[in-house]
Amino acid sequence: MAKILITGGTGYIGSHTAVEIFNAGHQYIIVDNLSNSSIDVISGIEKITGVKPIFFNIDLKDKTLTEQFFNSHSDIDSVIHFAAYKAVGESVQEPLKYYENNLLSLINVLENIKLHKIKSIVFSSSCTVYGQPNKLPVTEQSPILKADSPYGNTKQISEEIIQDFIKSNNGNCKAVSLRYFNPVGAHESAEIGELPLGTPNNLVPFITQTAAGIRAELKIFGNDYNTPDGTAVRDYIHVVDIAKAHVAAINRLLNHHNKSDFEVFNLGTGKGNSVLEIVKTFEAVTGIKLNYRITERRPGDVEQIWANTDKANIELNWKTQTSIGESLLTAWIREKKYRRI
Ligand code: UDP
Repeated sequence: MAKILITGGTGYIGSHTAVEIFNAGHQYIIVDNLSNSSIDVISGIEKITGVKPIFFNIDLKDKTLTEQFFNSHSDIDSVIHFAAYKAVGESVQEPLKYYENNLLSLINVLENIKLHKIKSIVFSSSCTVYGQPNKLPVTEQSPILKADSPYGNTKQISEEIIQDFIKSNNGNCKAVSLRYFNPVGAHESAEIGELPLGTPNNLVPFITQTAAGIRAELKIFGNDYNTPDGTAVRDYIHVVDIAKAHVAAINRLLNHHNKSDFEVFNLGTGKGNSVLEIVKTFEAVTGIKLNYRITERRPGDVEQIWANTDKANIELNWKTQTSIGESLLTAWIREKKYRRI
């Protein structure tokens, strides 16, 4: 059993990871400033696990507060670092907010990892680092292209910062960067899920809110892509499968099974689905007819991307377990529970 710090642990992927870290028999502490999450998530996790999580409301871009936290928790074995802003569109409008928050928080965490001789970190990265790859499915060796958004750039720069940090640290700290494809769905209990603050940017929350009658219609951004049905293709992966990959990464680091001090893994299903396929699958599993309309493309969207998952499957001994239909159903059940419908 190890003690894991989960930064951003009340967020979407963080909260599901907290549950799986608990299920794997580890202790954990959540740090989050609730800037894009709710304190209710803590009780959601408690309902699932039967144990109230230890939680600290701390803004990790505050150097002093971060230091104070680590000084009073010097027995942390490993960190899973989720805490970051994640809205692509907002990052284009407010780039400095994204660079300040995402990079300062990471730097403060790394400084304390060094100070307290913490042995490892798992970083929450994204397939956005690949842009539109020339070859599909995309492997971890694919080139990192210039980021399309400040958000994407913070993920690229963060990976570089971590790599440089690891190199400078003479093997005392190891890191795994997990590049997520499109996380969807919710815990089967529906006690936690994606928090629907404001108008969603992502496809699946928009679908469930349209089905719930909160949005009048779903706009499908473009049907003139070079894909089988003309709509854009992504690799949608259930959030609990992503959470379980974090457990695999932590155990790999704790057990010294890592092959180098900085490793990268794609977290996807290995399968691409078009927007229209997602809509049709949602309709099939829920029996709800969605009101949707084809509109123009969304600026900045890539045409198609899905993961080659061989490395994660073999090295992390991890595989996705949830189909896209099951994933969409959990998203809908969560939406209904949250809205009390
Ligand atoms: N999308 C859409 N309508 C929406 C939201 C998203 O057609 O209201 C499309 C979007 O253009 C992309 C796919 O759904 O092709 C996934 O978008 P999302 O924002 O969920 O994730 P991304 O892959 O952009 O990070």
